[in-house]
Amino acid sequence: MAVPKKKTSKSCRNMRRSHHALKPAARVECSNCGEIKRPHHVCGSCGHYDGRPVVKTAPAADEAA
Ligand SMILES: [Zn+2]
Repeated sequence: MAVPKKKTSKSCRNMRRSHHALKPAARVECSNCGEIKRPHHVCGSCGHYDGRPVVKTAPAADEAA
């Protein structure tokens, strides 16, 4: 097993970890119902993806018309 020759200083360790922070999850508005959803995912509210229904959901108020 490879063993480090020198102890990693707090500075080097912290500089390495400077990229480790989490970013907020991406979210977009559903083009069908306007609900906030994850991009490239089926809408959890209306079940639409790419402008067409792909998952059956409980009948929504705007879907009845
Ligand atoms: Zn939707």
